[in-house]
Amino acid sequence: MKNTDKGKLYVISAPSGTGKGTIIAKLLELRPELRLSVSATTRDPREGEEHGINYYFVTREDFEDMIARGEFHEYAEYVGEYYGTPKKPIHEHVENGESVLLEIETQGAMQVMMMNPDAVSIFIVPPSLEELERRLRGRGTDSEDKLLHRLERARLELDYQDEYAHVVVNDDVTRAAEEILGIIDNG
Ligand code: 5GP
Repeated sequence: MKNTDKGKLYVISAPSGTGKGTIIAKLLELRPELRLSVSATTRDPREGEEHGINYYFVTREDFEDMIARGEFHEYAEYVGEYYGTPKKPIHEHVENGESVLLEIETQGAMQVMMMNPDAVSIFIVPPSLEELERRLRGRGTDSEDKLLHRLERARLELDYQDEYAHVVVNDDVTRAAEEILGIIDNG
């Protein structure tokens, strides 16, 4: 039987180093029916990241061709790299009644909130800026220069939290994931 109910869009933003990756993995483990949108990016893969699973890793030229062909639902530049949400899979999932999580930064999130007023927006904040810096340094994947850029961007992004319908503090991954599930389950 064809599912006539459309799926929902959930937009989740969090400054880099907030621990959103771990929270999202927990959400998908607890609600395997949720679909996580795989973005395209021009940044280099980190160790362990796979093309088509974590991101579609593409060149700037490819990304700009995709923009020109109108293939993105939204896209933005972040710390000198492009990131974008491909249109097709999210449309297909939503039409099919499946709910989709978009894990994107604030500029992209603002675009989605304007285009999709029914999207549910969630902002995850770190317990403190000191903790955020500690986590970013602990990850050890960025040069000092990129790290300072990410930290500066994180401070700017925190100012956007009031634009989101829900703000969740990541003081504990399981607790934060459960709070988000509560938001998802209550519409
Ligand atoms: P990272 O390089 O740490 O994987 O991601 C950097 C930032 O880009 C994060 O805030 C992440 O949420 C955001 N991001 C990932 N994919 C997309 C996307 O498709 N669109 C936008 N606007 N931001 C994205």
